[in-house]
Amino acid sequence: MKYWVTNNGTKIYRVLSGRSNAYLVVNNTHAALIDTGTSSAYSKLLSNIARVDLQGKIDCLILTHTHFDHCQSAYKVKVENQCKIVVSKNAENSVANGYTRIPNGTFLYTKLISKVGRFIGKKRFGYHTFSPDILIENSEYRIPSLNVKIIETPGHSSDSISIVVDNEIAIVGDAMFGVFKNSILTPFADNKNKLVESWKKCLDTDCNLFLPGHGHCISRKLLEKQYYRYKTKA
Ligand SMILES: [Zn+2]
Repeated sequence: MKYWVTNNGTKIYRVLSGRSNAYLVVNNTHAALIDTGTSSAYSKLLSNIARVDLQGKIDCLILTHTHFDHCQSAYKVKVENQCKIVVSKNAENSVANGYTRIPNGTFLYTKLISKVGRFIGKKRFGYHTFSPDILIENSEYRIPSLNVKIIETPGHSSDSISIVVDNEIAIVGDAMFGVFKNSILTPFADNKNKLVESWKKCLDTDCNLFLPGHGHCISRKLLEKQYYRYKTKA
């Protein structure tokens, strides 16, 4: 299983990869799960978490956003770990309803997929409703026990947040896309301008590595390049 270690010793395990990534942020006393993947990946998620030498229990589940492929097991994770769920305030209505709308496509073919996806809607892309415990709104939120800072990075969706670990590595959900080699533009985004503004927010941290919701890690250098490429166009 792939993992990263910050200079401070905090470990970030990629406990789910493939269709969607999920990460486990761990130090000597605390742990936070970032995203859950789809319900069909749940057993894989559990078996990978079991491989990590957890010193304490999972204190919280932080959702980078509430699209089904990132949060479909949120309810189960909360019940089984008795943990808190941290989510953007903008997700409040969606999580009570168990469905977050598929975003607009940014390419021709994803525009089409978006339309079809919206037509199918909740039945295929819904999730078990859950009640969040901490809502992120208009400010940085800190989890001191893990030296984690949460910032809002909207654009892909209005409820997108990023988790900055030790001011060194950020877990960014779908604010960036790690599947293509030289591009980080997500195939779906509700607001492309805001997405590019969020890239700037990420550059304003000291992070040198960005872990996306899909695909491989993204360097600061590539993020910088992409920001200057899209900032005027957006
Ligand atoms: Zn998404």
